[in-house]
Amino acid sequence: MSKDVMLGFGAMRLPLTDENNDSKVDDEEFSKMIDYYMDQGYNYFDTSYAYHQEKSEEHLRTQLVERYPRESFKIADKMPTWLLTGPEDNERLVNVMLERLGITYFDVFLIHNINSAFLPLAEKAETFQYIAKMKEEGTAKKVGISYHDKSDLLEQILEKYGDILDVVQLQLNYLDWESNLTEARKNYELCEKYGLDVIVMEPVKGGTLAKLPDNIEQEFKEYNNEYTLPQWALRFAGTPKNVKIILSGMSNFQQTKDNCEVFKDFRPINDEEQEFLQKIADEINKLIPIPCSYCGYCKKQCPKEIPIPDYFELYNNQSLYKLESISAIYGTTSAVNTPASGCIECGKCLDICPQKINIPEELKKVAKEFGQ
Ligand code: SF4
Ligand code: SF4
Repeated sequence: MSKDVMLGFGAMRLPLTDENNDSKVDDEEFSKMIDYYMDQGYNYFDTSYAYHQEKSEEHLRTQLVERYPRESFKIADKMPTWLLTGPEDNERLVNVMLERLGITYFDVFLIHNINSAFLPLAEKAETFQYIAKMKEEGTAKKVGISYHDKSDLLEQILEKYGDILDVVQLQLNYLDWESNLTEARKNYELCEKYGLDVIVMEPVKGGTLAKLPDNIEQEFKEYNNEYTLPQWALRFAGTPKNVKIILSGMSNFQQTKDNCEVFKDFRPINDEEQEFLQKIADEINKLIPIPCSYCGYCKKQCPKEIPIPDYFELYNNQSLYKLESISAIYGTTSAVNTPASGCIECGKCLDICPQKINIPEELKKVAKEFGQ
């Protein structure tokens, strides 16, 4: 049995010409990836005001919008909720986004990163009413939210604004499905209850599910050697009925090719595979100390410019793989950036973290592990 699920091209981890500067997008590689992706019959691009230090939209304009007819692709963009101070900001920010992209309408427009900290900003700015107006006037064909919080808050939001919304973008992967922190299953079930389509983000949990410890990888091979680790993660994320699009933050041509392959004849997982993945999730969850999804929002807030997600990834990898090379990478990264011990505990990163990680506390553990 196969299912229609679209692979969405997430423009948040684009190829770079300078690995240390994520505003330096490699346009040559990016346009090759777009051409391949479009050629395989896919057409959904997801960006935001914030990605790549506010450069993602412009690169989409030059590499996609200016090279393909408008009706041949779909673009989803997101309101930077954290910049909203009042109703007058809605139109101003939307105009900036349309201009950066060089388009006159969005196929999907989302209020970005709705959680308990940002919902009051969107409500004060009347952004839910504003996106309803965008839909009426044709500036957005579909509207929704990207959501990062627990199911009780989502239920309140859908109760209040469910009539306005068409889609919810959710973090959904087999590791978060039963997580008490992310509540992916409960959030998904609410979307189904309210009849909303779901766009999945973080299907591979920031890359975590693409590289697992050897013993766990071996368990997959023994169970069924037909699929790679990322394929298992993508198949899981695309299985629930209302999931229509799965975003993958593709960073190079090979990844684009591999991902396109999985979606050609998309095979949802069956009940037995679901059980197997849940068992694997329990094993992995026991091993991962910091549930960072590598969104990078915290880094933008940090006055010390600490590369927080990099440090968390190194710390997690060290817990999983115990390799000397990981300490060496920490050494070189912290030599050119503020080390984890340089956190001044200002707290500016706390509210923005979609995973609700106590970042200053975790940075203390990173500093202890790596010696600074
Ligand atoms: S608490 Fe630490 S990590 Fe967070 S923003 Fe402040 S200095 Fe940066
Ligand atoms: S710590 Fe939180 S905000 Fe920072 S990259 Fe990880 S998930 Fe994102």
